[in-house]
Formats: sequence, C-alpha cells, structure tokens
Amino acid sequence: MLTTQHLKNAAKAPLDTLAAQFGPHRRGKQQKLWTLMYHRILPKSDPRYASEEPGMIVAPDTFRQHLQQLKQLFTILPLSEWVERQQSGQAIPSNACAITFDDGWADNYEYAFPIIQQEQVPVTLFAVSDMIGGTQQFWPNRVARLFTHCSTEQLNELNWLAPFLSAATIRRSNSGATEALNAEQISEVIQQLKSLPDNLIASHLLEAEAELGIDNDTSQPLVNWQQLREMSDSGLVEIGSHTSHHFRLQQSLDPAVMASEIIDSRQRLQDELNKPVDLFCYPNGDVCPEAIKLAREHYKAAVTTQRGINYNKGQDLHQLLRIGVHQDISNTATKFQSRLANWF
Ligand SMILES: [Zn+2]
Repeated sequence: MLTTQHLKNAAKAPLDTLAAQFGPHRRGKQQKLWTLMYHRILPKSDPRYASEEPGMIVAPDTFRQHLQQLKQLFTILPLSEWVERQQSGQAIPSNACAITFDDGWADNYEYAFPIIQQEQVPVTLFAVSDMIGGTQQFWPNRVARLFTHCSTEQLNELNWLAPFLSAATIRRSNSGATEALNAEQISEVIQQLKSLPDNLIASHLLEAEAELGIDNDTSQPLVNWQQLREMSDSGLVEIGSHTSHHFRLQQSLDPAVMASEIIDSRQRLQDELNKPVDLFCYPNGDVCPEAIKLAREHYKAAVTTQRGINYNKGQDLHQLLRIGVHQDISNTATKFQSRLANWF
C-alpha cells in the first residue's frame, strides 16, 4: 500500500541525489567543520532497539558505512584538535569532520567502539559524569518504558501524564477500545513533556513506577568507568562532559545547580580518567546565556544540537553547530550525503 510517507520519500529522492552530489561537502574552497551527532548504535535484533526513539539510533552496519564514506570525503579530526588548531592559528583542513556521541550509552562500547577501532577513526564521547555505570535511565526512556508496560487506560489515570496524551495522539479503534501508541506518538508525548522541569518529571516517574509495579531496571544503560577508560586509553575516543545529571541548562534552573552541572562534571571526569576534559555538550540542546558563559569559562569549546555546518569565520566555539544522524535518514550513501549537504 502506498502511504503518504512513501510519496514523501519518492518526492525527496531526486533532491537527495542532487544534494549528495553537489552539497558543500563536495566543495573544498572554504574551511568548514562538520560535527556529526550520534546517540545510540544498535542492531534491529537488539531488544533495546524497539524501546528507543527512532531518531536516536543508527545500526552498526550503517555506522561502519558512514565512517568509510566520511574517510573519503573529509579529514576526520578529534574535535579538540580542530579547536586547538583554530585557536593557535595552525593550518586547518578545508573539509574537516568531527564525530561526536552524546550520553555515553553502553551500546557505544558494545557496538560502536569495535567499529571505531577497525576503521581507526577518532571520535568524541560526551558522558554524563554522575550517571556513568548506574542503572538509572534518562527520563525519556523511562517514559517510553511506561508506554510499553502499561495499558492506555492505566496511563490515562496518571494525572500528570494525561494532559500530554492529547486527542491527536490517542487513536480509538471502531470498537471504541484505545489502541497502544506507536513509537512516533510516544516520541511526540516525550517532546511535549519537555515543557516540565526535569526534576518534576523524575519525581512523577518514580511515583508512577512504584504505583504500577514497574521494577527498576537492573541492566546498565550507560557505559561504566572501566569501559570509558578503555575507550579513552585507546587514543581514539576523547571524552567530553555532558553535565553531571543531564539536566537541561535552561534559564529557570537554579544557578548553583547549573554551575555544578557544568563545572563539577568536568572535575569528576578528569579525576576518574586522569586526563584533561576540555569539551562540553549542552543536554537536549538547551542553552541560555548563563550556561554559555560558564562553558566559555571552563571549557575550550562546546557543542549544541543546533543544526548546521561550522564555517571558520565567525563561528562561536562555545556554540558549535552539529548535524544529527539517525538510521532512517542515513541508511544509503545518497541519503547520508544529502544529510551532510544540509540543504533541507
Ligand atoms: Zn544528551
């Protein structure tokens, strides 16, 4: 059956081909830096694939193909090296690329690290210092887990969640029974929940999980210190900070908490890894003037989730742009290079 999505894809294919062939990654006149943003590397066969938002995942085979293409198109540098060259006035390759991973998922160690070693490509991993090795999930994953463990009727009884299960996301079948939400709809609810503060969502979740008898996961979602050290010691993975608890650094956040998230996370990572930590990544892409000021004082550079290619002139090193990559938009060479072109 032809769906709207099929038609959209068919309409986009010729544009992807054009962008892939003629995008700025094909031209080397101006100095520019592509900073790619990855989150999780998981094969479809892994049970964790089904419970994650599609926009967070790239499959291992696709990731390997990305690295092989990137090696042909760009000079791949550790992000810190590009920043140092920039600051000291050393020569910078015209088309440079830095590969970054956010959050420090355990699957980065399991699936991405072996490929990184085989392909000998440098990457930067932004870790959440006080969640490393723990069993606690980020709240969007805990919300997604609620949806897979509970009926829609049970979810509707959670007063704090009910307003976010809007008419648009709840579908009713002909018999009147409520259907389970699909992955995209769950993702939509998660986006809407971001209007609440992180600590409030966390306390609602704790209560709901206890009430509904959802056992706390004992698996380890993020890398542990030993895995992080092994990656760091390989010389291919440099570690940056992604705060202490992944709190969104919005203006409304308590100033002392904000300072601790930015400054103490760096100290903790440096103490544990015995290496300088000079790069920072704002959680969820949220930035405010105070967060940028602190990042400027304590780090050599910081990355956002704002999409774009960094052109040498005028780019703020503490608000570097990135290009996010996930499976659906990058599983062929043409689609991946169209994404790199960043035309649409
Ligand atoms: Zn993050």
